[in-house]
Amino acid sequence: MGTPEDPFALAEGHYNPDNCPHPYHAGDLPPLFGNKGIAWSAFLTDRFRVGDVIGKTVIIHGSPDDFTSQPAGNSGEKIACGVIVR
Ligand SMILES: [Zn+2]
Repeated sequence: MGTPEDPFALAEGHYNPDNCPHPYHAGDLPPLFGNKGIAWSAFLTDRFRVGDVIGKTVIIHGSPDDFTSQPAGNSGEKIACGVIVR
């Protein structure tokens, strides 16, 4: 969500309730693999509960996460987003 010029302007940084560096943010998710424009992901985590992230935004970046660079793993431009709803 954002503006036509920056459609992700209102998305905040990585979900990080424990004030950790990347890639240890609670919201850092496993890499997403796609094929012909389609991707699917599932994961298990004990870093947050479903209720903690309702209303948060999921962002997909255009490049792989290097799991080192701050603040987002040098993962390139934001290419898609969605809001987590119940
Ligand atoms: Zn992160």
